[in-house]
Amino acid sequence: MLKIEEALQVINDQQIELSTEIRKLSDSLGFAVSSEIRAPFDMPAFDNSAMDGYALCGISKEYQIIGEVAAGDAEELDLREGEAVRIFTGARVPAAASAVMMQEKTRVEGEKLFLDELPKEGQSIRRKGGELQKEQLVFDKGYTITPAGISMIGALGMDQVEVFKKPIINLITTGNELVQPGKAKGEGQIYESNSFAISAAAENFGFPVHKKHSLPDDFEQIKTGISEALEQADILLLSGGISVGDYDFVKQALEENGVEQQFYKVFQKPGKPLYFGRKANKFVFALPGNPASSLSCFYIYVLPFLQQFSGFQQKGLPKFQFPLKEPYYNRSDRPSFLKAKIENDEVRILDGQASSMILSMAHANALAFIDAETNLQIGDLITCYLIG
Ligand code: AMP
Ligand code: MG
Repeated sequence: MLKIEEALQVINDQQIELSTEIRKLSDSLGFAVSSEIRAPFDMPAFDNSAMDGYALCGISKEYQIIGEVAAGDAEELDLREGEAVRIFTGARVPAAASAVMMQEKTRVEGEKLFLDELPKEGQSIRRKGGELQKEQLVFDKGYTITPAGISMIGALGMDQVEVFKKPIINLITTGNELVQPGKAKGEGQIYESNSFAISAAAENFGFPVHKKHSLPDDFEQIKTGISEALEQADILLLSGGISVGDYDFVKQALEENGVEQQFYKVFQKPGKPLYFGRKANKFVFALPGNPASSLSCFYIYVLPFLQQFSGFQQKGLPKFQFPLKEPYYNRSDRPSFLKAKIENDEVRILDGQASSMILSMAHANALAFIDAETNLQIGDLITCYLIG
């Protein structure tokens, strides 16, 4: 059985052939750029005004107003010492201007401009190249495009961008007892919720699930289901049937489909029977069926892999340390990811940690990592993975 770090290392060490595509700027949110982006020109491209006010030539408190420049005007005004022009935010500042004074600190009488205070050299002028110089690095390869990133790329004049493709993800749930929500539930049956949870979590991080199937605990059907899914998908996620029960057929069905096991079982709680396999450039995670285990394994193992497959620099859930609000004893003999709530910069371990329970996870905003058989006191620093 692997330790958590070893399992994560196996995942991280996979050699993956990444592929790229060109996307419209408006459809590029959450994709990672596939090569570095450099500024094609200086930004700003010309000296411009940071204020609505007056561009001034020379440092004084009185000027003669000789004209006006609005945003977008291309004409170059010739300013001489003691002269000023009315100017607006973003408008090109005349080359000879020493400063811009905001209009709130000025008074106009006819063609005469009076300032409340002396301007400082360069004041309220946004200089050419002040943010970026031509050829300067804007984004490294693997930068994941945020809304502000879209603004930046647009400001560079690009209406499309080359990014790493995201994987096609298929999801199969297994279990004779499972009934889809909305349908009538018979004796001994439960509602299938893992597929909704996993799809939602994946989607939340920008990885939509392409296709979902729910299969009974039938070896042949699971084998065929895996074979069909692998024809289409880059990444196949399975839920349930990976434990040691007589009806747990997933592992053998994967083997018979030529999937090579990379690891099976991780020394952790929840999620011990986690499986990771590979067939050529296709990858399989078989997640334990218990709802909290499957979601926990998704966050800790599947998410960073989806990001790796998509060329992201940043991988995994955001991780921070918070002081414990109430004492906690982890009686498990395995390191644990516990459902926890961060509030007012403190973290509290929630009640109801059994793998079969999802209520505590639905109220949690973090998974707190706590070592096996550890007794923790108020104020002890805990590593928390943010889930919401
Ligand atoms: P398994 O890993 O198949 O042994 O399932 C472990 C537990 O998780 C059992 O109690 C199952 O009923 C439950 N379970 C399995 N799959 C799902 C699912 N898709 N939604 C909700 N519960 C599930
Ligand atoms: Mg099962």
